[in-house]
Amino acid sequence: MERIEYSAIETLLQVLKRRDYVTLAPILREGAIIYDEVENASQLPRAFVDVQAAGSYRVERREDNAYFGHHVGPTTWKKFLFPPLFELFRVIRTASGFRIEGDANSENHDTVPQHKYAFIGVRPCDVQALALNDKVFQNGPYVDRAYKVRRESMFVVAVNCTEAGGTCFCDSMGTGPKANGGYDLCLTELTGDDEGFFLLEVGSERGADVAKELPSRPADPSERERAVEAIQRARTSMGRTLQTDRLREMLADNLDHPEWDNVARRCLTCANCTMVCPTCFCSTVEDVTDLTGATARRVRTWDSCFTLEFSYIHGGSIRSTPKSRYRQWMTHKLSRWVDQFGEYGCVGCGRCITWCPVGIDLTEVARAIRERQHSSITLQEEV
Ligand code: SF4
Ligand code: SF4
Repeated sequence: MERIEYSAIETLLQVLKRRDYVTLAPILREGAIIYDEVENASQLPRAFVDVQAAGSYRVERREDNAYFGHHVGPTTWKKFLFPPLFELFRVIRTASGFRIEGDANSENHDTVPQHKYAFIGVRPCDVQALALNDKVFQNGPYVDRAYKVRRESMFVVAVNCTEAGGTCFCDSMGTGPKANGGYDLCLTELTGDDEGFFLLEVGSERGADVAKELPSRPADPSERERAVEAIQRARTSMGRTLQTDRLREMLADNLDHPEWDNVARRCLTCANCTMVCPTCFCSTVEDVTDLTGATARRVRTWDSCFTLEFSYIHGGSIRSTPKSRYRQWMTHKLSRWVDQFGEYGCVGCGRCITWCPVGIDLTEVARAIRERQHSSITLQEEV
């Protein structure tokens, strides 16, 4: 583990740029911290913190000068690998008929930009979300070529969390606050009375090659200890938990639990929770023609299980009520995802809680189902 000073962040960006990476990092825009391309370190939202609670998000100034003193915002890294709007191919009318251009699934596609992305500032929960995205898009029997091309050339700079966000529960899901692999480089930012600095860990050969160009010195034992303590503080100050013991079975066994009615009375089926989630992967396909009829485009767009059309099958929607749609979303994340992919589909980032306009919190819904289940079991035992 090495110590690097704050000035090394600019060096890191420029080293990555010299290696032809498009450098993507947190930036402050329109009152929220989102991810977008940055040219230099001055664009990072330094000395800002995002104050989050169920249904509430606010960016404030920090007292220190931290580069990564914020948590996760309304955007996710998946938008660069699995874009919200993606052209699959286009059909051009010709004198003799038509021709197809840019088939994203062909070897000679021209719709997949050949960018090399460097993601800078990826939180441990989001590192794990990328691993879940991999299972869906490139490790199964159906490979999304566009995703795979971008993912293979990607560089990940993770940042361990030393403060818990207002809605996080990564500790329950085993995904944070410390990253366990899945990165090329990993930073732990330490602030305090001094100016602040980073401890740097290397996770790959590609990472080691970049790290060689950063001015650094070996971290001393007291600095390492500070990092361990800071990450432990984030763990113990996390305000939410999700009890994962038998969660899959508990939800599958309680599809008629009254809590689904309670949550449905509040849910607006706005789909915000699915749009901000780093692991939601549903999409739909649409054909779009221009007004002259000369060109038609087939595009893939993000979809959500909260829309009525999502479950439309031969004359009607099979999930016509908010209750059925909320239950579908939550039981997929926390029950049937395990059957499909062997792990939970939630990384505990808390985005769906923060960005739900009515503050619905899936950890509370799960707790309510578990508690009532327990009391009914107790009741039965007493009878
Ligand atoms: S379900 Fe909510 S907490 Fe879990 S990964 Fe998605 S947005 Fe994050
Ligand atoms: S749970 Fe919240 S964010 Fe999700 S659809 Fe319902 S109201 Fe919208």
